[in-house]
Amino acid sequence: MGLYCTIFGHKWNGCKCVRCGFVSQHSNNHHYVPVEGKCQLVCSICGKKVPRQHKWVIVGDKANKECIKYCEICGEKGKAEHKWNKCICERCGAIRKSEHDFHILEGECIEKCSICGTTRPIAHKWAGDVCINCHISKKTYFEQRALEAQGAIYETTGCDIVGEIEDQTLLQNIANNAKLYRVRSEALKHIIKREILISIAQDRSKDYDFRIEAANKIKDDAERKKVLASISMSPGEQSQYDSEVKSGL
Ligand SMILES: [Zn+2]
Ligand SMILES: [Zn+2]
Ligand SMILES: [Zn+2]
Ligand SMILES: [Zn+2]
Ligand SMILES: [Zn+2]
Ligand SMILES: [Zn+2]
Repeated sequence: MGLYCTIFGHKWNGCKCVRCGFVSQHSNNHHYVPVEGKCQLVCSICGKKVPRQHKWVIVGDKANKECIKYCEICGEKGKAEHKWNKCICERCGAIRKSEHDFHILEGECIEKCSICGTTRPIAHKWAGDVCINCHISKKTYFEQRALEAQGAIYETTGCDIVGEIEDQTLLQNIANNAKLYRVRSEALKHIIKREILISIAQDRSKDYDFRIEAANKIKDDAERKKVLASISMSPGEQSQYDSEVKSGL
């Protein structure tokens, strides 16, 4: 610091004294200019850098139903808030659970949102075994529900209606997917289709007892014996058997 400046004080040009060259980092008079491609300002006199606000542009990513923001200056990216119009985002098309505008469809037990098109079932109005609204029978209804839930429904309603189901694919779903053994077993009891019984008997992810139960239901004597034998095979025998099955034996 020069003597003159000590006595009379500095002669500032922005953050720098033009007389002695002293730079004050704490000056309020830096000459900030933007840094190209960065959200930063730099003092053209002393080189001090400070952050600068991003310039966000928000776009809707319709494929992923996300609102994305990116900075026009530095390119930084991030998630942005959706722009909700009732239940749908105007920008990206995302749908939320609230603020739907549901209307019941004529002759159906389904309501549909007039804004986003989301549909959901409503309770049937039973008159005996038939819904007065959509005319579905109770039996069909239970079958549909069971297909949707892949057997999960039986954990809450019990086994009693499994016995009413004839659809073999549905029974297979229940036998494969129901969590409770007694439910799977109940479904298996009503399976008569040969291919399904064989596929269950040969499914090594299933319990031994369950596979035996399935195999025992195969009508054809020779086929039943062959499948039963395959269940008790050692791993070596089993791979031999598998390759025979594959080659169409
Ligand atoms: Zn000075
Ligand atoms: Zn400066
Ligand atoms: Zn930026
Ligand atoms: Zn959005
Ligand atoms: Zn909606
Ligand atoms: Zn209905």
